[in-house]
Amino acid sequence: MKKITIAIDGFSSCGKSTMAKDLAKEIGYIYIDSGAMYRAITLYCIENSLFCEDGSVKTDELKQHIDNIHVSFCLNPNTSKPETYLNGVNVESKIRSMEVSSKVSLVAALGFVREALVKLQQEMGKNKGIVMDGRDIGTVVFPDAELKIFVTASAEIRAQRRYDELTAKGQKVSYEDILRNVEERDRIDQTREVSPLKKADDAITLDNSNMSIEEQKTWLKNEFLKAANV
Ligand code: C5P
Repeated sequence: MKKITIAIDGFSSCGKSTMAKDLAKEIGYIYIDSGAMYRAITLYCIENSLFCEDGSVKTDELKQHIDNIHVSFCLNPNTSKPETYLNGVNVESKIRSMEVSSKVSLVAALGFVREALVKLQQEMGKNKGIVMDGRDIGTVVFPDAELKIFVTASAEIRAQRRYDELTAKGQKVSYEDILRNVEERDRIDQTREVSPLKKADDAITLDNSNMSIEEQKTWLKNEFLKAANV
């Protein structure tokens, strides 16, 4: 069967990764969470004091480090889920913290960071058979993807989902803080100069505010079957 490229973009915490991951597993494609790559670079900045006191990024210093920051993914054999590695260290749990969430959009707005990661993402997808989720996958990373989905849901519903996810992992978080973070990331992602979050002209919109995970899964699988001409 001919392999295709599947680009799934959309707002923060709208369930893109869950549906992308499930589809990739079912159809035997590689799954790449591009947000995890921006999160890993952000964690590197936190661990190497590359944020100023006012919260801005020490851009010149990060530029000097960028070639030495290596982000990769490895499948966890117990869960069969890909996990993120930063310079060989598993950082899957650390990159999901509120501290990283609150800083990642600033790092992701830097042109040289995007340039380095987009190059890596294109390399990962050069043989097709990939499902990648993010903000600019259908517009910048794979403009020729055969299937492009743009996912959206209300900010309140997205914040509630992220709250449930983090509290289930035992993290102590406040719903209000998460909602503020979701709205702030939406704002920065949509208004940044380089590759802002926007729907590709040929993307199909999915508003999943009132859909269950199972319903989304079925919807996406149908779109895949149509796009792959199966
Ligand atoms: O998808 P996730 O919420 O984990 O992504 C974290 C952040 O990384 C986003 O809020 C966005 O600022 C940035 N991002 C991006 N481009 C991508 C993926 C993520 O700018 N392709």
